[in-house]
Amino acid sequence: MEIALAKPDITSKEIEAVLDVLKTPVLSIGPQVQAFEDLVAAYVGVQYGVAVNSGTSGLHLLVRSLGIKAGDEVITTPFSFVASSNCILFEGGTPVFADIDPESLNLDPAQIEAKITTRTKALLPVHVFGRTADMKAIMDIARRHNLKVIEDSCEALGADLGEKKAGALGNGAVFAFYPNKQITTGEGGMIVTDDPEIAANCRSMRNQGRSANPMWLEHERIGFNYRMDEISAALGNAQMHRLEEILAKRAGVARKYHQKLAGIPGLLLPNGGLPVQNSWFVYVLRFMPPLDRDVIAAYLKNEGVQCRPYFPPIHLQEFYQKEFGYKGGEYPVTEKIAKQTLAIPFYNDLSDFEIDYVVEKIREAVRKFG
Ligand SMILES: *Cc1c(COP(=O)(O)O)cnc(C)c1O
Repeated sequence: MEIALAKPDITSKEIEAVLDVLKTPVLSIGPQVQAFEDLVAAYVGVQYGVAVNSGTSGLHLLVRSLGIKAGDEVITTPFSFVASSNCILFEGGTPVFADIDPESLNLDPAQIEAKITTRTKALLPVHVFGRTADMKAIMDIARRHNLKVIEDSCEALGADLGEKKAGALGNGAVFAFYPNKQITTGEGGMIVTDDPEIAANCRSMRNQGRSANPMWLEHERIGFNYRMDEISAALGNAQMHRLEEILAKRAGVARKYHQKLAGIPGLLLPNGGLPVQNSWFVYVLRFMPPLDRDVIAAYLKNEGVQCRPYFPPIHLQEFYQKEFGYKGGEYPVTEKIAKQTLAIPFYNDLSDFEIDYVVEKIREAVRKFG
């Protein structure tokens, strides 16, 4: 028995969509990318979508389009995938971390204001694991201090907050489509925004700095090749058309885990086992002392249950320790929780048999090492 951590959900619809593109001569800058941008923007409820070749490149372009540069500070979370902080470094800015809320695992608004200085330019919250950050409080702080807000929505396609979707709450947002995300394009990402200037700027910068109606090889600013190709976009379109089905499947797996894992001593379920979330990226457990997450993870892997610590704190990554002198102890909530969390197998077609096997192995581990 070997149960994967994540798997994409690809049907004959996706395969046909990709093959159809391959039968045309247009493999880049064509109708699929345009359609994918329109589809995602409309779904999120914003004016503009700009498709790019990864979530990371999308974040980079957003940071650049807000004019963040050397000396500027951006307040963000240390409990995330490293790209949400690296994108600030790409432009010479300084990521300033604020600790997280122990329940939502998202940036704690109460920790933000103490970190604001005259150099602070923006806030960069991440909707961790598909749960929306407290954007009401975060936007409030941004308004009071005149700061821009970038939403890292890479894990949160389909998440919402009241009437609005994640991605429509700040100045701009990015979704990512790596194969373990809610929907995939292989590699890919999408910037979404209501700001025409940000959209035009990002559109130009992803295409080598060309203007909107360029003469061949005219470049009005420095840019990159961050374009998404037509094949990836076709895959994304087919996935977007199945999004509601995909989100429902993921919520269904989460609900089953919630039910079957409830009541195991020392085990904390995501969101306290409550259905507060409607878009799921990963299913992350917390093992409380005396349980040792690393011992449990080794046991599960040995039994064929793939699992990963999600996330090691960004400020304790080797590069950040060297560059900024972090030693541990700076963000106690993040550091404590990061030692206790473990992502377990989670994907659309995880069967009841597999779920039962994973749950049984977790029970065994807790009994053995509790
Ligand atoms: C996936 C992800 C990204 C972007 O990842 P890419 O692999 O570049 O598409 C950025 N931030 C977070 C929080 C992510 O989970």
